[in-house]
Formats: sequence, structure tokens, C-alpha cells
Amino acid sequence: MAVDLAQDAHVQDLAERTARFVREVVVPVEEAHGGVLPSDGERVRLQDAARAAGVFAPHAAPEFGGHGLDMCGRAAVFTEAGYSLLGPIALNIAAPDEGNIHLLERIASEDQKVRYLAPLAAGDVRSCFAMTEPSPGAGSDPDALSTTATRVDGGWRIDGRKWFITGADGAAFAIVMARTSGVPGDRGGATMFLVDADNPGMTIGRHIPTLDESLYGGHLEVEFSDCRVTDDAVLGEVDEGYRYAQVRLGPARLTHCMRWLGIARRAQDIAVAWAAERQVFGSRLADLGMAQAMIADNEIDIAAARGLILHACWELDQGRPAGMEVSIAKTFTAEAVWRVVDRALQLNGGRGVSGDVLLGRFLREVRPFRIYDGPSETHRWSIARRAVARATR
Ligand SMILES: Cc1cc2nc3c(=O)[nH]c(=O)nc-3n(C[C@H](O)[C@H](O)[C@H](O)COP(=O)(O)OP(=O)(O)OC[C@H]3O[C@@H](n4cnc5c(N)ncnc54)[C@H](O)[C@@H]3O)c2cc1C
Repeated sequence: MAVDLAQDAHVQDLAERTARFVREVVVPVEEAHGGVLPSDGERVRLQDAARAAGVFAPHAAPEFGGHGLDMCGRAAVFTEAGYSLLGPIALNIAAPDEGNIHLLERIASEDQKVRYLAPLAAGDVRSCFAMTEPSPGAGSDPDALSTTATRVDGGWRIDGRKWFITGADGAAFAIVMARTSGVPGDRGGATMFLVDADNPGMTIGRHIPTLDESLYGGHLEVEFSDCRVTDDAVLGEVDEGYRYAQVRLGPARLTHCMRWLGIARRAQDIAVAWAAERQVFGSRLADLGMAQAMIADNEIDIAAARGLILHACWELDQGRPAGMEVSIAKTFTAEAVWRVVDRALQLNGGRGVSGDVLLGRFLREVRPFRIYDGPSETHRWSIARRAVARATR
């Protein structure tokens, strides 16, 4: 089937304005603070600037103040936003809020949209998505889900422990996956609940120290103990949580790819500029074969990742599940982005690991992407199973 990846004029214009905004307004803040947002006040300031520039919330529906881009449109704009570690925060398209906005637009009731989606899309509040649990609970295998939600008078009682919950510190609410039927190890049924941060049954615990620091709000342990919620906290239907997780995760995996592809392009720009300037052994670094190989391999990785992302986006935009295409794009991009940043750092020599350029920071930020949104091994396992099933059906 033919694949049409042409972007319309509105998307192209938004992508160009986003690129300008990120380079002129966001990159200077990022460079001044080593790639890490210094305060919530700075988040608000950058988001105000993005609103003024007309580039805020490109993914959200127009009734929630956004541009309503489809997945292919997001690929163009999010990659430009991802050129800086702080670009996605400025545009309100950082994880996990961006994925939660996508999910709430599709699954939430009208009341839930007013209460949770509207302030989230506007950037007035932050949120988190609580799925992963310490061993032996859910991680790459979602069937291990151990957090339970049991029916009580007037609603539900949630009990369990989560960890690595990005942005939980300061979030106004959590979308929590809890088991509502079956036992850990079989799929059974899971349900998503909207839990307000001031619920006395939800406790935000330790900030887990990690390699990365740019995903705002950190990664936290969260405990649910006798956490009571009413029926209107159920997101969608009871026992449909695994299906909704796919509604969120397929697009969210790709939007992570788009943002990190932006950082790969930035790293390559830094490396090429340096290689063109630096003189070694009587010539420009850029004229030496092994340096050229690294520059060329970066171009190849960037182009291939972009193509795989766009293909998977196009499949999703056609209304198809695109599980295979998303897994391929996610695995390749997570590994390609790492290779690109690593080569860029190498080309910069000692300067590459110094604080004078942000390549060391980029390397730390992109490494966990080979683990979250499904580790590479889980995706390869799933790709191989689909390939064998296709060949033997
Ligand atoms: C920075 C960061 C942010 C995160 N943010 C969130 C968040 O906001 N919300 C949330 O719910 N979770 C979040 N997570 C958790 C993340 O989704 C999990 O870490 C991920 O799903 C892997 O689960 P796990 O850590 O339990 O690893 P495990 O499931 O224990 O897997 C360990 C390793 O086993 C290997 N493996 C897995 N599957 C296979 C297979 N089929 N074949 C062979 N080997 C395999 C892989 O190498 C894998 O890394 C975050 C994680 C990180 C690192």
C-alpha cells in the first residue's frame, strides 16, 4: 500500500515556528542550567513564552487549546521541540503529561475531561502515570500487575506499591493501573483510576536517583494503602485497563522517539560544527576518514529512525494498531539515538565529556529510553513472535 507522508502547510508552519522558538528561547535557558529545568517558575515562564509564540500544546484538541495534530503532524513538530531537553516541557508535550492528555481525550468521560484534561492540556497542572511496580510486580511483563482495586461501598479501594513514576512529585493526579480481576501472572483484568494527589491513601515516597534528570518531577515510589476512590474515578470501563494502556502506549512510545530524535539531531549538529572547525594532523577533523564514518553513520541512523517513526505514525493515523511498526520504530530509535549521541561525544574529544557542551548530559538522558516504554529485548521478543506468527498462520 502507498504511504503518503506529505505534511500540510499548517504542520510545516508550526514545525518551523517551533524550531525557531526552541533555538531562540529554550536553548539559552537549557544551556545556562546544564539541561535541567531549575524551577517550576521557569517551567511556567517557558510555557507562557510558548503560548505567546503560538506553539503551545500542538497535540491537544483545539477545544482544549491545542493544534489537534495527528501522529504524522506530531512527528514533525515534536522532533523540533526535542532539539532541546527543555523544549517538550515548554510546549507541554513532555512525558508523562503528553501521553496522559492523549489517553484522556480518547477515554475520559465529559466530567473527567473538564476536571482533569482541561487543566492538564492548559499546563495549569501536571500528572503522572502509575503502572510499574517493584519486583515481583509489573514491569516489562504487565501481567505481573499486583496492585489491586477491590469493590467497596460507594467505590473502590486501591492497595499496592508503584515505582519509577515520573513526575509524581508535584502532580495534581495520578492515572493508576490496578488489578480488578485475575491474579498476578495471568492477564485477568486491570482498570485505570484517576486518583487525586490529596487522597490520603496515596503517599509519594522516595525520589529514585537515576542517570537522567530532565524528565520533570523525577521518578518516584508511590504507595497506595486503603486508597478510597468513588466510581467516577474509573477511567473508561472496569477491566479494560490493558486495552487502554495500548491506546496510550503506542503513541507515547512514538512521541518519545520523536523527542529523542530531536536530541540526536542536536548532538549531530554540535559534532559536525566541531569537526568542521577542529584542526588535527594537518587537516580538519571533518576531512579524516574515521571521523567522516562517524558523521555519516549518524546521518544514516537519524534518517532511518525518522523514516520508521513516520511509517508507524502513518499506520496509527489510518486507525490501525501498528503494534509491529511501533515496536520496530521504538527499538531502533532508542538504540540509534544512543549511538548518535555517543559518536557525537567521541568526535568532540575531551570537550565532549566536559560541561562546556551538553553531550554528556544528552548521553545520560537517552540511555534509559532503551528500558522505559518497553526494553529493547521485550520489543524484539514481541517483533519475533509477530514475525513467526505471520509466517506460520
Ligand atoms: C527513567 C524511567 C522512567 C520511567 N517512568 C515510568 C512511569 O512514569 N510510569 C511507569 O509506570 N513506569 C515507568 N518506568 C518504568 C519502566 O516502564 C520499566 O522500567 C520497564 O517497563 C521495565 O520494567 P522493569 O524495570 O521492571 O524491568 P524488568 O521487567 O525486570 O526487565 C529487566 C530486563 O529484562 C530483559 N527482558 C525483558 N523482557 C524480555 C524478554 N521478553 N526476553 C528477554 N529479556 C527480556 C530486559 O533487558 C529488561 O531490561 C520508568 C523507567 C525509567 C527507567
